This record gives sequence, C-alpha cells and structure tokens, in this order.
Amino acid sequence: SGGAHVPALVIGTGYGGSVAALRLARAGVHVHMIEMGMSWDAPGSDGKIFANTTTPDYRSFWLRTKTKQPLCSFLGFPLDKDVPRYTGILDAEDFGGITVYQGRGVGGGSLVNGGMAVTPRRENFGAVLPTVNAEEMYSTYYPRANAGLGVSSVDPAWFESADCYRYARVGRKHAQRSGFPFVFVPDVYDWDYMKREAAGTAPRSALAGEILYGNNYGKKSLQQTYLAQLRATGNVTISPLHKVTSVAPSPGGGYTVVIDQLTTGGATAATKTVTADKVFFAAGSVGTSKLLTRLRATGALPGLNDEIGRGWGDNGNVMCGRANHMWDPTGALQSSIPCSGIDNWAAGGAFAEVAPLPTGIETYASFYLSITKNPNRARFTWNAAAGRVDLDWQTAWKQPSIDMAKSIFDRINSKEGTIYRTDLFGLHKIWGDHLTYHPLGGAVLDKATDNYGRLRGYSGLYVIDGALIPGNTSVNPFVTITALAERNIERIIATDL
Ligand code: FAD
Repeated sequence: SGGAHVPALVIGTGYGGSVAALRLARAGVHVHMIEMGMSWDAPGSDGKIFANTTTPDYRSFWLRTKTKQPLCSFLGFPLDKDVPRYTGILDAEDFGGITVYQGRGVGGGSLVNGGMAVTPRRENFGAVLPTVNAEEMYSTYYPRANAGLGVSSVDPAWFESADCYRYARVGRKHAQRSGFPFVFVPDVYDWDYMKREAAGTAPRSALAGEILYGNNYGKKSLQQTYLAQLRATGNVTISPLHKVTSVAPSPGGGYTVVIDQLTTGGATAATKTVTADKVFFAAGSVGTSKLLTRLRATGALPGLNDEIGRGWGDNGNVMCGRANHMWDPTGALQSSIPCSGIDNWAAGGAFAEVAPLPTGIETYASFYLSITKNPNRARFTWNAAAGRVDLDWQTAWKQPSIDMAKSIFDRINSKEGTIYRTDLFGLHKIWGDHLTYHPLGGAVLDKATDNYGRLRGYSGLYVIDGALIPGNTSVNPFVTITALAERNIERIIATDL
C-alpha cells in the first residue's frame, strides 16, 4: 500500500519511542509506531507468552538458528542449542568486536531486561549528559520517568529472609568485608508479586528464572506502563513486524518512510510507503545509528552531519563469576531480578550489580555484571561493498573495564581466599568481555542533534532514544533514556507542533 499521510511516525517502541508517543498522543497528535519485532501479547505453543531462560525455544532469539546465550557454558558444558529461525524476542547482534544484546518487540528492551531502574548519582550526571541542565533533570524529569516506569525497591525486611536473595546477601557480605559500599537497586518488578511467588500463592516468574526472553508475570515492562497509557488515549496505531528501511524528504513536504512488513521467518511480506510530517528515531542506539549512518551515506539524508554514527559506547559492561567456599552457598532458588550492587564508581570506576545465576541448582557461584567508566568510543560506518553498517569496536577495548572490575573482585577474592570462575564464558575464560546489554550513543545529543534531539540538517526529524547518550550512564541506562526523552519531547511539543 502507499500514500498514507500521518502527522507523527515513531520508529521503535522501546523507552524513547514510548515516551514520545505517549506525550504526543496526549497532546492530541495521532501517532503511528513502527516496530520490527512482534507484539508479544498472545500465548505460544506452551500456553505462555514468553519462554523460560532454562529452556530457550523458537521465541527466544531474533532470527538465529542456534541460541547465543550470554553465558555460553557451565562447568565445561556448552549451553547453546539449535532453535527454529523466528522473529524471537532477544537479538544478539554481532559486530566485529562485540555482540550487542537488544530486545525485539513492542516494548523494546523492556521486554528482556532485568528491570533495574537506576538514577545516576547526581555528582556523576555532568559526565553522562554534559549539555543537559542537571537541576531540571533531578527535579522534574528523573522523578517523572521513575513514576511513569513504576519504579520501586525491595522490602528490606523481606530481603533479609527471602531464600531467593541468598545470593545477594552473600554478595553484600563479601562486598562489605572488603570495604566496598553495597547499595540496593530499584527495579520495575512488582515486589508484592514476588512475595506471592515466594509464598507459593502466584505463578512464578522471577522465581522461575524468567528474564532475557521475557517475564510472564510480575515485571512492569513498557507494555504495562507507558504503552498501556498510550493505548488508553486511543490516539495510537502500532504496527509490529514492520521494519523501517528508509526515511527521505518528500517532494510535497514531510518525509517518505519506507517500511518492510516481515514474516515470522524474517522474510519481507510487503513493502509500504507512508508520508510523515515528523519522524522520531527511537530504534535504540544501534537501530537508530545504523539507519542514520546508512541514510546519510546512501543519499536519502545527505544533509545529516558528520557526528552521525559517532560516540558509541558499551556502558563499560563486563561480566564475571566467582567461586565461593562451601560455607557460602548462593542458593538453588535465585530471583532473576537483581536488587543490589557494589558501588565502587568513585574509587575504581566500577558499579557491579550482584546478578543471579538461576540454574535451579546450588552452584556456590557469585555472578556480577559490572558497569565501568570505559573511555573507549566506537563509530558506525557504511560498508558499501558489503551493503551493511559496521561498528569499529575492538574486543581489546574492554581491557579498561576488566581492570576497573578487578578493582572490586581481585580484592574480594584475596580477602575471601576465593578465585574467579573460568567456566562461564567458554573454556578457561574469566571475563565476559565479548558483549554489551547497554548500547549507548551513535547520534549524540548536541552533536548529531541539537540539545533537544532535533537532527541537524532536517526539520521534523528527531532522535529520542539511547543513541543520544554518549556511551556511558554510570549505572543501568533505561531510567536516563526515559528521563531524557521526557525532557526533550516536552520541549518539542511546546515549540515544534
Ligand atoms: P530499545 O528499548 O532498544 O527499543 C528500540 C526498538 O526499536 C526495539 O523494539 C527494536 O526492535 C525497534 N527497532 C529497531 N530498528 C527498527 C527499525 N528499523 N524499524 C522498526 N523498529 C525498529 N537497562 C537498565 O536500565 N536496567 C536493566 O536491568 C537492564 N537490563 C538489560 C538486560 C538485557 C538482557 C538487555 C538486552 C538490556 C538491558 N538493559 C537494562 C538495557 C535497556 O533495555 C536499554 O538500554 C533500553 O531498552 C534502550 O532503550 P531505547 O529506547 O534506546 O531502545
């Protein structure tokens, strides 16, 4: 089909896209959202919408024939297995030096993530978004984002007694014995629901190891928060399994957007064209950067500036496990929702979440995802010969992250007389340094765009997702992505509509 004209088109349904769409819809603008992933609102062959982490299936990965789990082995046994190629929920997107994990579906990363909803410490904000007024963010937009996302913290009394957080209490003990600050981390999981799971009065989700491929209960993804409010406006159309492939100025004004409708096997079923007055790029750091880099290089949007594709970082993600003594069991039952971290940012450049290893058996392992102050930044470029966008990140660029994480775990190991696990990321490998969950940047605020996300070179084109943030947020990123989107869309609605 062709010829449809819409006032506002949003590419992607993650945090940035959902915030923009809700605020536009409430301002009376009918919004069209285009999402390459599925809607994730109907049960699969087992009666559940989402697959479990212990039994990945056709729903788990985006167009792969074999799973690519972040932890690829355990006790020397490889964990990955064959699955049917399907438009599943988690994309493990491979670039030369890094695999970038991303959510695919209506709700974006909120479908697959751990829900850890962390506002950066204010003293670190200047390094996160140097051109943004911190006072406004901390008085208005961070509170608005936290409220909109439904953020809350574990009941500290319950935490002390819950079997499913034994691993976190062991993590706290080891952190404190080595003199590191231990902090509770808020989450969007419904903590009362988790108590009912633990009590056996509600179906298990966090306590059944659900995460990565979706949570069937308990987690407030964007589907339960911003997108529910958006649908209630009646002012939105969402097209799942539709992928934007081009945006270019329309001769009659506005932008011509080309969209491929996908089958669940990943083939193109139809190609559609829409004209939009305003286009919001909210395809995530990688999705937005890839689109803009290609459109700039191939002549659809030649007026974009040279900042497009630059300033990309991995939020310093690095993983590791430690082997505890037999007197420090971490529990056969582990909540998949992390609730705590070790904050050594100021002294050592690392904030380590105490992560679950929900295998269902006692492993005596402590597992951590560290966010570090890694200074390296990569660039997306158009590879004309191969017809794709490349990212020049090098695996060796993780070394600063490893060094920062070691500032915590070398000391804990020496204090406890313990060692690193070497069986989680392949044989004899300590560090999970091949991946990130937190892609950021590629169309950086006040560089590729103005200070509110308006793309330089074109009026009516906006970036409103993690691509705006220059590579690091010092903590888990989605609260900052949401708060920045709230700030920017408020200004855009006030001045550009
Ligand atoms: P996204 O949420 O990535 O949304 C972009 C959407 O656009 C996707 O749905 C995508 O399918 C769609 N899209 C892309 N290209 C196109 C196209 N061409 N056409 C149409 N649609 C397109 N962050 C935290 O703060 N706390 C956590 O606990 C946490 N845990 C995580 C765990 C995992 C396993 C992963 C993968 C991420 C985690 N994150 C976490 C990161 C967080 O989810 C992301 O930072 C966040 O989702 C990014 O938001 P966004 O709006 O920039 O884009």
